[in-house]
Amino acid sequence: MRHAADPAREESERPAPVLSVVVPIYNEQEALPLTVARLRPILDGMGIGYEVVGVDDGSTDATPVIMQKIRQDWPELRIVRFARNSGHQAALTAGIHRALGDYVVSIDADLQDPPEKITEMYALARERDLDIVYGVRGDRGTDTFFKRRTAGAYYWLMRKLVGTNMPNQAGDFRLLSRAAVDALKSLPEHQPVYRLLVPWLGFSSGEVAYVREERVAGSTHYPVSKMVRLALDSITNFSASPLRLATWLGLTSFLVCLLLAVYTTVQYALGSTVPGWSSLFIGMHFIGGVQLICVGLLGEYIGRIYSAVQARPAYFVGYDSSEDTADTEERGSRVSERAV
Ligand code: UDP
Ligand code: MG
Repeated sequence: MRHAADPAREESERPAPVLSVVVPIYNEQEALPLTVARLRPILDGMGIGYEVVGVDDGSTDATPVIMQKIRQDWPELRIVRFARNSGHQAALTAGIHRALGDYVVSIDADLQDPPEKITEMYALARERDLDIVYGVRGDRGTDTFFKRRTAGAYYWLMRKLVGTNMPNQAGDFRLLSRAAVDALKSLPEHQPVYRLLVPWLGFSSGEVAYVREERVAGSTHYPVSKMVRLALDSITNFSASPLRLATWLGLTSFLVCLLLAVYTTVQYALGSTVPGWSSLFIGMHFIGGVQLICVGLLGEYIGRIYSAVQARPAYFVGYDSSEDTADTEERGSRVSERAV
């Protein structure tokens, strides 16, 4: 039995939202209350129906408890919880797939993306009838030197791979229209990298500049290992050129081998074979290195083929607050009718 004050009940009576805000959240117990305190007045002030899809990416701290508490007096907050940590992009995927709004904004939970810009993004999309509005980082002054450098290299490489319709320095703070969301949902990607897939769609787009602020609390959950993972996913998702690189490296090493062979023969003819030891030694290491690189590159692709064949989902949802009531299907069909 439910009574009127039950937030789940209220949710079922609310019309489908105009705006969905997707927030991937992983161990953000310090940042989350501050983020909500800043985000909520902005969304309330927009004067449109909205929902916030908070995707708890398997947090192991007090985040789930805090989220439940916040939801008690903020029924617009919908909680999707993963059974285990599945990564930022998987959390984004779950949020974008489950969002019901006509427009979907994705934003980090640590206030590095200023929520005030959501209003600007929405207004721009409405005014110019855009499908995508990118949040473009004008100033990364608050990021570490290392982060700025690696990010610079990443965006340079990605623009080479995806093309110039990929805005420079656009991360995962962006607005998508329902049409763009439906297009993304139709893609069979297992490990989607949205910052590449979204520009690849080629839909009409605009940009809103913002200053990347300092993380409000806690510390980054993107260690170098996750950054390398994202870069590898990005490259192999979008290009087969690393495989071609393997071919070129193989050819180069073959040519070097030929030169070494000539050199060794000459040394042999001159009767000084013992000093040749160093060149052989270097050659052996060089070829070994090249071969390992090639095998590694092939492994990257074979690994992806393997996981695609396995067709494992990128995440498992352990809980979705909107499934407290049996209204999901009804609301979902209302949205798809509108999208047609
Ligand atoms: N995040 C996540 N799963 C992870 C790592 C991060 O959902 O495995 C979330 C995190 O809570 C934050 C956003 O993704 O809202 C960006 O992460 P973070 O701030 O740690 O990365 P950075 O801004 O340092 O690149
Ligand atoms: Mg951050």
